[in-house]
Amino acid sequence: MGNFMPYALVIHGGAGAQPGTDYSAQAEHMAKLIARGQEMLADGENALAVVAGMVAELEASGLYVAGKGSGPNAAGEFELDASIMDGRNRNSGAVAGIRGFIHPVLAARAVMEDGRHVMLAGAGAEELARSAGLAEVEDPQAYYSEHVRHGSADTVNHGTVGAVALDRSGALAAATSTGGTFGKLPGRLGDTPVIGAGTWADNLVAVSSTGLGEAFIRCAAAHDVAARMHYGGRDLGTATREVLDEVRKCGGDGGLIAVDAQGRISMPYNSQGMKRAAVSYATDAVVRVFEPEP
Ligand code: ASP
Repeated sequence: MGNFMPYALVIHGGAGAQPGTDYSAQAEHMAKLIARGQEMLADGENALAVVAGMVAELEASGLYVAGKGSGPNAAGEFELDASIMDGRNRNSGAVAGIRGFIHPVLAARAVMEDGRHVMLAGAGAEELARSAGLAEVEDPQAYYSEHVRHGSADTVNHGTVGAVALDRSGALAAATSTGGTFGKLPGRLGDTPVIGAGTWADNLVAVSSTGLGEAFIRCAAAHDVAARMHYGGRDLGTATREVLDEVRKCGGDGGLIAVDAQGRISMPYNSQGMKRAAVSYATDAVVRVFEPEP
């Protein structure tokens, strides 16, 4: 009977995609990742491990504005945000404005596993990540050198990576990681480390956001998807599209990736493009950047 349990996985590489830019390296990378993620879920791996693993790979690649590909803030420094949530029990962890770690998402998971707090910022987050033994960046200016390929404060200006999954035991999980917006003020935190804005997972749905973080925070975007399903009786696709309409009203654009407990997938955006890939027990893998969602 286990073989018939649904599973689903969606990953994103940010909603800041610019028409005219060649994203074939990202598309190729996402195709490989989604195939690996599918294998893990088909083999019975749990959703939390899969989303953490997917986001860690996206961070390390340098191909997106997160982890190695992050852009600098107005002071030329690299302050990163990440969060993770386990839909089985709503355990969550987040790091905000963290410096010098290869995998902010694993630092977020360490905060969750430590269990005393949900969100740690700056030096405190770094201390916990260090005591968890997480890999550090030796020379930040050299390590974070990929962002020049992703644009600047005047062009692309933001990006994020994320993953949402339903595993065969019925558990949902979500994780998100970002370098934030290019040229942001030192200390600026976006939606990515905010549980309920950038990331959400419960027993019904898992969500990861990308776009102008200030608007996503003001809309409690990721949690609002869940709320519309829980209290409003919306299906997944309606809930995600309605939330993006609200984000627009708050002065932002972007996209959401989401999976529900039945293994349905949604990945709409209202920016110019969103790097994304999806697969489920019922659908073949797809990788898209500018193609519109139904
Ligand atoms: N949401 C991210 C932030 O505002 C940026 C992005 O998703 O492109 O930090």
